[in-house]
Amino acid sequence: MDLKKFEYWFIVGSQDLYGDETLRQVAQHARIMTDDFNKDPQLPGAVVLKPTAITPAGIRSLFEEAAACSACAGIITWMHTFSPSKMWIQGLAVNRKPLLHLHTQFNRDIPWASIDMDFMNLNQSAHGDREHGYIHARMNLPRKIAAGFWQDSELRRRIGVWMRAAAAKHDGMNKVVLRLGDNMREVAVTEGDKVEAQMKFGWQVNTWGIGELAARYAKISDAQAEKLAEEYGVSYELASGLKQAGKARSAMLEQAKIEIALKEMFETENAGAFTTTFQDLHGLPQLPGLAAQRLMEQGYGFGAEGDWKQSMLTRSAKVMAEGLPGGVSFMEDYTYHFETGNEAALGAHMLEICPSIAEGKPRIEVYPLGIGGKADPARMVFNAAPGQAVLATLIDLGSRFRMIVNEIETIKITNDMPRLPVARALWKPYPNLYDAAECWILCGGTHHSVYTTALTSEYFRDWAEMCGVEFVLIDKNTNVNRLKDELKWSGAYYGRI
Ligand code: MN
Repeated sequence: MDLKKFEYWFIVGSQDLYGDETLRQVAQHARIMTDDFNKDPQLPGAVVLKPTAITPAGIRSLFEEAAACSACAGIITWMHTFSPSKMWIQGLAVNRKPLLHLHTQFNRDIPWASIDMDFMNLNQSAHGDREHGYIHARMNLPRKIAAGFWQDSELRRRIGVWMRAAAAKHDGMNKVVLRLGDNMREVAVTEGDKVEAQMKFGWQVNTWGIGELAARYAKISDAQAEKLAEEYGVSYELASGLKQAGKARSAMLEQAKIEIALKEMFETENAGAFTTTFQDLHGLPQLPGLAAQRLMEQGYGFGAEGDWKQSMLTRSAKVMAEGLPGGVSFMEDYTYHFETGNEAALGAHMLEICPSIAEGKPRIEVYPLGIGGKADPARMVFNAAPGQAVLATLIDLGSRFRMIVNEIETIKITNDMPRLPVARALWKPYPNLYDAAECWILCGGTHHSVYTTALTSEYFRDWAEMCGVEFVLIDKNTNVNRLKDELKWSGAYYGRI
């Protein structure tokens, strides 16, 4: 995934009252800033400078062009000088791209000895951006405001977060969530409105029969599977029984065939994410375990038991995290450790956890699976690397989608779990296990989530705002009673609890 292919149009506002000399300087400063932004690895996309915006017609046509441009993932505005905001109404009204209002100033310092009215007239963002902010507020436009000196690293970091969120939004606009079968029978939280999802996120959530995958699987040759297994041998440890021909190695080779068949299907259907369900595996020998892990590692989103919302979110998190240290995986809350003072939650899934979050080299093993009634599946076994992480989930409340994010700290697993041969993560949620669990459950959060050590809650907030969905954060400062009130206010805002 190359995030440089995403363009972020930099539109600097002014007006024609200033005269040519001031406008020349505005354009020159904007060019210097753009060139510098493009050299900074904190900004993953390509910043593209547009002509200075000085007339209503010019502004409108810039936004129309952006809407029609398939490479444009977002728009950054900044008012170096004063740009009367009624000029922006028509343009903003047709805007289709995520918006960042950059509030900065070309000069860092006030030149105390030489400052005069000419300097003041050129360096006017302190009031020009207030005029600009008013029209966003008046039009109730979703946007991120990033304030600070344009060379400062913290401001660059915040712009980078927004760019990554916008890249994920853009990525979803023409991608398919390929559902193999439906949701797990009788489960409520994995259901949802797929039409609304496409309207909000762009994602096309569609279903294919498992028979289509089974037919592709049947056509994959043993030689193709062996070739892929060589790659497994390099990237992962293989349990002893998997190195030579036999039942266990055959189980791994079956997963290799499923991986190849799935990837073929994804390429044919332009899928960026997929779901499976253990209740619908007709024609497949095993539940896709290792195959799902491998495909997540390659950047595809995944949701088990038909959970297309978390699949879509996993892919979006993978786009946001591209090139950053840490990993992204589908996850499930499994069981608790209630020892006083050392409370923790153990996350895992039947099989499908992405090795990008692993500490050390994952090991491929084959064991029976007590659900689904299929052959023993191959899977990667590992512990998640410790560190700061977040859990994010997306639910459908009927009236709206709600995203819930919990900041957590993943801790080192010091005990062996020889009878639990799956990938697992152990964490302490903020503010503490009990309050975090109460809040998550109060919000209606699922047992499924996206787990990431590469991203902070800020990425998910930016993405949720761009998509126009509710965002609820559970972090160090969360108080259960305050959150109860917050959810009531939010219900009033959305017109339904
Ligand atoms: Mn599950």
